[in-house]
Amino acid sequence: METTIHKIEVEQAKKSKINQVDFDNLSFGDVFTDHMMVCDFRNGVWETPKIIPYQPITLEPSARVFHYGQAIFEGMKAYKDDQDKVWLFRPEDNFKRLNTSCVRMAMPEVPEGYFFEGLKTLLQLEDAWIKPGLGNSLYLRPFVIASQAGIIASPATEYKFMIICSPAQAYYGGEVRVKIAEKYSRAADGGFGFAKAAGNYAGQFYPTQLAQKEGFQQVVWTDANTHEYIEEAGTMNVFVRIDDTLYTSPTGDRILDGVTRKSVITLAKDQGITVVERPVKVAELIDAQRTGALKEMFGSGTAAVISPISGFGYKGEKYELPKLESSYASRLKKQLTDIQYNAAEDRYGWRYGV
Ligand SMILES: *Cc1c(COP(=O)(O)O)cnc(C)c1O
Repeated sequence: METTIHKIEVEQAKKSKINQVDFDNLSFGDVFTDHMMVCDFRNGVWETPKIIPYQPITLEPSARVFHYGQAIFEGMKAYKDDQDKVWLFRPEDNFKRLNTSCVRMAMPEVPEGYFFEGLKTLLQLEDAWIKPGLGNSLYLRPFVIASQAGIIASPATEYKFMIICSPAQAYYGGEVRVKIAEKYSRAADGGFGFAKAAGNYAGQFYPTQLAQKEGFQQVVWTDANTHEYIEEAGTMNVFVRIDDTLYTSPTGDRILDGVTRKSVITLAKDQGITVVERPVKVAELIDAQRTGALKEMFGSGTAAVISPISGFGYKGEKYELPKLESSYASRLKKQLTDIQYNAAEDRYGWRYGV
């Protein structure tokens, strides 16, 4: 990590909006805190970031982001323990992935000092927005967009790196039934599925709407060539438990390297669960479901942590998963959140005190 402390200019909001917020009835990503960070890239350099009151930004209608989708983001959370201390979880990985995404979209990489100082300064200012208690958190959304005016189809020379913050509650997805993709694809070899690029999400909305009309909540994407191997969900990596082994697809061009995914793999292995990273065939899932060997499927990602999948559909057939008393999903979720909220020892050095 960079040691230089970048002093960030702060313009404080005159009045906080916090009293207008019902923290017991938050819907994900709807409410934003009092401040945001803005950092402009001009003349080949990132200028000193500023923290200003949360407000709309002004861009030319011709700004590249609107036309060519040069836009990437990150998703992370700040947690408060019962001593009111604030923690991040493996933020170094989010920082690295932000820049991996930037490089793939021909955008300038963000300096590490700006990322961390921006986060820390924001978290100090927004401390009252971070509620203690398992499930409560402040969702942090760093993002970079091409702000330069002009509709020539080439990389911009001006960008904005911003961080906005949204209070979040435990996310109960309810029953998640997934449709395994047969026709549409999310990513291809040589593409940018591994990047948190805005366009990856826009491209999923339509096939997901179609799946929702059939009674599924989400799509599990398959390989674009054969649609025979499962890959990941829209914003989550996917795990499958067959007998007592966990399987998950290897990361690569097409699959996002989730921080939750790799944490789940480490936690599972350390308690003696066999974890195999290899492509998983839809046919295997169906066979295992028929013999009863398919015990669990779940998604992993920062927003929901771990989201159990109750059934899947493929080629017109629907398959149900058993309801388990004690699942790997619930066990791993508890272990992971205990580390995140400083309620358990962190043998891995994952927690990052703010
Ligand atoms: C963000 C994301 C994930 C989960 O990553 P985490 O680092 O665990 O939050 C998985 N898949 C996709 C496509 C994502 O965008």
